[in-house]
Amino acid sequence: MNNAIEPITKATMHSEFDVNRYRAEFPALHQEISGRPLVYLDNGASTQKPQAVIDAVESFYAHDYANVHRGIHTLSQRATDLFEAARETVRQFINAASLEEVIFTSGTTESINLVAHSFVRANLQPGDEVIVSMMEHHSNIVPWQLLEQQVGLKVRVIPINEHGELLFDEFLKLLSPKTKLLAITQLSNALGTITPLKAMIDAAHDVGAKVLVDGAQAIAHMEVDVQALDCDFYAFSGHKLFSPTGVGVLYGKRALLDAMPPYQGGGEMIKVVSFEGTEFNELPHKFEAGTPNIAGVIGLASGIDYVTQIGLGQIAAYEHALLEYATAKLSAIDGLRIIGTAKDKASILSFQIAGVHASDLGTLLDHQGVAIRVGHHCAMPVMAFFGVDATARASLAFYNTREDIDALVDAIQKAISMLT
Ligand SMILES: *Cc1c(COP(=O)(O)O)cnc(C)c1O
Repeated sequence: MNNAIEPITKATMHSEFDVNRYRAEFPALHQEISGRPLVYLDNGASTQKPQAVIDAVESFYAHDYANVHRGIHTLSQRATDLFEAARETVRQFINAASLEEVIFTSGTTESINLVAHSFVRANLQPGDEVIVSMMEHHSNIVPWQLLEQQVGLKVRVIPINEHGELLFDEFLKLLSPKTKLLAITQLSNALGTITPLKAMIDAAHDVGAKVLVDGAQAIAHMEVDVQALDCDFYAFSGHKLFSPTGVGVLYGKRALLDAMPPYQGGGEMIKVVSFEGTEFNELPHKFEAGTPNIAGVIGLASGIDYVTQIGLGQIAAYEHALLEYATAKLSAIDGLRIIGTAKDKASILSFQIAGVHASDLGTLLDHQGVAIRVGHHCAMPVMAFFGVDATARASLAFYNTREDIDALVDAIQKAISMLT
């Protein structure tokens, strides 16, 4: 039995993963900070860009630039072709059923706000509830709180345990016919917890609720198939996926998007405008008012092509091994406590060191060329749950190495010796 599965395990092992080849393709990784080689471990905040993405954006501006969907001249047609080809790239990447289900936005935050205003607010019934978890990013908390204040939506919160795992039974208790939407992260940016998404989606559907997945962290670390998940909405950003800032995606099931009113009004989202009445454009353009981030969308397609060539399955296996290595190394440091120890975990290491303030640690690490994030990671409720106001967070991407982890550990040891 064990023999039968061994070849699969071997094929996905990091030894087959040519990390140095990939690293070479990220120009920003090859520089010195404070006279030391940069060790970039802030990928949860944003990722560096491969040369292919930089080239795609530059080439667009240098050769093909014009506005989209507007002109019959050659450049406008080229720009439109590249823009719409990017939509197909995204569709395949997340396995959406049709192009109409892929809406370009400015990022995860806008994607969630679109659902908040167009789906939830516009269809709100008295007593409606939205369920989120304790470990959501602020951008999947505050839009719902705003609706709570403005129109009386009720926000319910799934609690977690001391490992940072969702309490599934408590989640089931919150579900009721009043639940309009479950808005849940796939991978916590503060703790690294992977949520049991499929089971949660099925349970939410059983009471007639819809599900919005915050995929901002997950999208760069695991394969995502929106049809297999059967989620109703899925949101992610380009910049955490090795692509430009200011661009993101909202996936939505077509029947839902069709029934939703526009989110913003302007050019592109209309068919006919008159003061007697305006006819809205078809999907996906109904939700893309105004001139979009054309270069960003083209860069996003290039970033997706890049990770697809490597393979998200390969990336996940490599990062999993690296996370285990880093967890063991960090745990061995005296006084260091890892915050977020879920069984199902990816890419994030949040920690605290006794007697050391996270921001002092961040500064001393930067002086040694090591970039991490310190603070509340836009997840203050989860910080409060663990009784801390800040943690240090090292977050991995597939271009990180064991040498990066060793450099992190050395830098932490030096910082501790200076601060305690
Ligand atoms: C980064 C992040 C967001 C917000 O993404 P933006 O790109 O800032 O809109 C939302 N949720 C999670 C889990 C994140 O990590």
